[in-house]
Amino acid sequence: MSVTYNFCAGPAMLPQAVMQKAQSELLDWNGLGTSVMEISHRSKEFIALTEQAEIDLRELMSIPANYHVLFMHGGGRGQFSAVVNNFLGKQGKALYLVSGSWSQSAVEEAKKLTCDAQIDSINIAENTNGINQIVLPDLAKIDQDYRYLHYCPNETVDGIEIFDELDSPWPIIADMSSNIMSREIDVSKYAVIYAGAQKNIGPSGLSIVIVRDDMLELPSLPQSSIMDYGLGVKHGSMYNTPPTFAWYLAAEVFAWLKDSGGVVAMAKRNLKKAALLYDFIDSSDFYTSKVCQSNRSVMNVTFYLANEELNASFLKGATDANLVALKGHRSVGGMRASIYNAMPIEGVEALVEFMQDFAGKNQA
Ligand SMILES: *Cc1c(COP(=O)(O)O)cnc(C)c1O
Repeated sequence: MSVTYNFCAGPAMLPQAVMQKAQSELLDWNGLGTSVMEISHRSKEFIALTEQAEIDLRELMSIPANYHVLFMHGGGRGQFSAVVNNFLGKQGKALYLVSGSWSQSAVEEAKKLTCDAQIDSINIAENTNGINQIVLPDLAKIDQDYRYLHYCPNETVDGIEIFDELDSPWPIIADMSSNIMSREIDVSKYAVIYAGAQKNIGPSGLSIVIVRDDMLELPSLPQSSIMDYGLGVKHGSMYNTPPTFAWYLAAEVFAWLKDSGGVVAMAKRNLKKAALLYDFIDSSDFYTSKVCQSNRSVMNVTFYLANEELNASFLKGATDANLVALKGHRSVGGMRASIYNAMPIEGVEALVEFMQDFAGKNQA
């Protein structure tokens, strides 16, 4: 059987070793004679799993002691409303930076929820001669009393990543759904980091929230108990029944990451994979990237063919070569190769080889 490389943006491929382990212990986990998804979330075995997951995540990301880690329902978008409800209260104000489609969605959700609270936003993505680029504003010059600043360091749809740390006078909330643990970050620079699991962590539905303890003192809006960070902390993410199977797989991914050398080793490998693809795109006159060098996403590589009429035939040829899910998001067109932590370098090599071959056959 030849290997299939899955470039889906999300739900994305998971590490093969993790999937194989899950398969081997699906019917009998930990010698219990049942699946991990069939046992009580309050059993001592499952609690031990969650404790180890948190220890591993804290180690992988060097999360300081004054931060809580929550495993929640509702994916990435669930957090768009949770941050508003948890931190804005009735008259709070927040600032959103808009760099692409996910941060735009976060603003829209926030505006829908606030009654007297105020949501301001700044568009930081500029398009010059068809090339997208991030231009960060001088935040210190803004004379406003915001409860938080929200941004998305990796725009999954657009393939735009912000590598610079923000110099923000307000607590920073970051949607790291598609780049969490892809490279080292200093958690202490953030008030809240959240991520839907289905890109770099595990199956969809689960989300991870890393929240600094002082943030929990901010006045909240009336909200559902399951999205209440304070209650989540109090109940060890088990106010209601958590997505236990997703949590188990996330724990296995953390263990795999540690075995693979942690975030430092991943970051090195990720840079290598991205460089292979971008260097090839730049060297070719058949493919183009529409993102400036300094904001090219290491996780989601968006690119376009010289002749867009060949898109369907490119996708078909790729699928025939076992390179799947390369179609760009419908809002931006073109192609997108999502190369998260779980994608081996061989997958990217196979893709470049196919792209080279396809260009050779279709060059005008
Ligand atoms: C995928 C994604 C989301 C949405 O996640 P859901 O789990 O579908 O709600 C939000 N933000 C970013 C940056 C994403 O990549």
